[in-house]
Amino acid sequence: MSRVYNFSAGPACLPEEVLKTAAAEMLDYHGCGMSVMEMSHRSKEFQDIIDTAEADFRELLGVPDNYKVLFLQGGGNTQFAMVPMNLMKNKVADYIVTGQWAKKAAKEAEKYGTVHVVASSADKTFTYIPDLSDLPIDSDADYVYICQNNTIYGTTIKTLPNTKGKDLVSDVSSMFLSEPMDVTKYGILWGGVQKNVGPAGVTIVVIRDDLIREDVLPFTPTMLTYKTHADKGSLYNTPPCYNIYICGLVFKWLKEMGGLSEMKKRNEEKAKILYDYLDQSKLFKGTVVPKDRSLMNVPFITGNEELDKKFIAESSAAGLKNLKGHRTVGGMRASLYNAMPKKGVETLVQFMDKFEKENA
Ligand SMILES: *Cc1c(COP(=O)(O)O)cnc(C)c1O
Repeated sequence: MSRVYNFSAGPACLPEEVLKTAAAEMLDYHGCGMSVMEMSHRSKEFQDIIDTAEADFRELLGVPDNYKVLFLQGGGNTQFAMVPMNLMKNKVADYIVTGQWAKKAAKEAEKYGTVHVVASSADKTFTYIPDLSDLPIDSDADYVYICQNNTIYGTTIKTLPNTKGKDLVSDVSSMFLSEPMDVTKYGILWGGVQKNVGPAGVTIVVIRDDLIREDVLPFTPTMLTYKTHADKGSLYNTPPCYNIYICGLVFKWLKEMGGLSEMKKRNEEKAKILYDYLDQSKLFKGTVVPKDRSLMNVPFITGNEELDKKFIAESSAAGLKNLKGHRTVGGMRASLYNAMPKKGVETLVQFMDKFEKENA
């Protein structure tokens, strides 16, 4: 067996310790003679798995008691619809568009009400974060929406917008559990787990109690109503049991690592290795404004498409996988999520340096 360094943006690398535990427990989970995959979601064993996962998640992120944690399905794209269906009482919402995912969310919300794009960085192909300190927030807005880490472009909103009293909804998919967050600043924060937390198939929604409403838009399906899942502890219907179990193992791993402050420190260290290299390289360059750089997703280019292709092929052959940039932007992208070891980033930079010398 040989494992590669997987720089995929998602589904992405998982901690090796977690995969080993899952393998060891595959046939017989804790002496019950069956795999978690084969278990009833109404069993005591599974109830323990989801309860422990939720408790560990709450502890890691510091989720206050007046917020619910929901384990849902449908991926990030389903949240693009659920948010407006559940929150658009006045049928008005303000969106900050800093990349493709926020743009898609805004477009979906337009189906249900009036969407105001109150800030955007589309003018410079999303290479920066606009000033969000004094936006024309609508007095009727039901919420203000952001995508906090832009997976495709590699920018992060580091100072949250001044929402002028409106509830903030944040897509944190590609930075989930990569650093501490102050949950009280959000009405809802949510993320698809396949970027930084677990296997594809679970979306974790953290939602303040008063936003779990009965008066959702009238056509909202039962399954797309937050209240349905909040009332039943995410067990209204069969949840993605095995994936929730793996998320739970990742939470345990994060606690053993020292929690989110420690992860932030490690993630800063890892990102610095790559950004420092990019800043002095004569061949490779980062594509975004330095102050807005993401710790998680690092896009870079050579400025020559043929060389980019050559780099992607040669790095892949050397066991540095999935460095190809998003299909809409080209170039390269290295995702440095929690499970990417420092050694992986060091190996990447050594490889880039060698490639630079060979192709000077
Ligand atoms: C990947 C991603 C999504 C889309 O998630 P799906 O689960 O594929 O629907 C949404 N937002 C962000 C920030 C992402 O990185």
